[in-house]
Amino acid sequence: MKQYIGAHLSVGKGYEDMVDRAVVMGANTFAFFLRNPRGGSARALDVEDLEKAREKLEKYEFGPLVAHAPYTMNPAGSKESVLAFADIAMREDLDRLEYLPGSYYNFHPGSHVGQGIEKGITFISEYLKRMLDRPLQTTVLLETMAGKGTEVGSCFEELATIIKNVDKDDSLGVCLDTCHIHEAGYDLKDIDGILQEFDEIIGLQYLNAIHLNDSKNPRGARKDRHELLGEGEIGWDSIINVLTHPQLRHLPFILETPQETEEGYGIEIAELRERSTHILSMKK
Ligand code: FE
Ligand code: FE
Ligand code: ZN
Repeated sequence: MKQYIGAHLSVGKGYEDMVDRAVVMGANTFAFFLRNPRGGSARALDVEDLEKAREKLEKYEFGPLVAHAPYTMNPAGSKESVLAFADIAMREDLDRLEYLPGSYYNFHPGSHVGQGIEKGITFISEYLKRMLDRPLQTTVLLETMAGKGTEVGSCFEELATIIKNVDKDDSLGVCLDTCHIHEAGYDLKDIDGILQEFDEIIGLQYLNAIHLNDSKNPRGARKDRHELLGEGEIGWDSIINVLTHPQLRHLPFILETPQETEEGYGIEIAELRERSTHILSMKK
């Protein structure tokens, strides 16, 4: 069975170039920022470039892409300017993604900055209702968070409450980040248990993408420090169990490991494909 594996790439030279680079590294999905991750505006619209990218994605049979919202986007913030940016950024990003239909748009739900988890959840829910008030070809994904500072979304219950509040089944889902859930306290040695819990609390039909990362920190550290696959506290066994799990392996897997070059990602992706083929052939 075909697996969709890729990494987070820079959009520097445009979309078509990004697809070409992904192909070179053996990827058949990828993630990217539509704008500077620390804020700023989206790159100028280049319809021709997007059209060419789309043709190549089809030609090379890519799985869905997983675009990433800027880190500074915080719909649970307290400052007027922060909230205004969140509205503008997601609206513009979703407009742009209409040129790459069928993509995912992943975002960090937000930090309540001392206003309390309940207010945070309410702000994020109201925000998503505004953002999803029109027909879109993109599914917006809430990312599972490590629980650093006042981050909302470090347990399945919080994400489930937001999804229930928004009540827009087809336009909302979840992206599970292995580093984040490990640092939030979930034990990846028991992936079956985690998925059962996910299913009971959120529903596995909402799980649309995986961020496949190792972690520099022990379980429950809540610091959010990614590590190269196999070199952190999660380790190869659990990473491969996630990648080859029958309830997960159809999903797009995105690496956000601290690689310095795209060649590095190519090597990690090749190793993942090799290890997963080996494990899957032994299970037959
Ligand atoms: Fe993220
Ligand atoms: Fe992530
Ligand atoms: Zn992270």
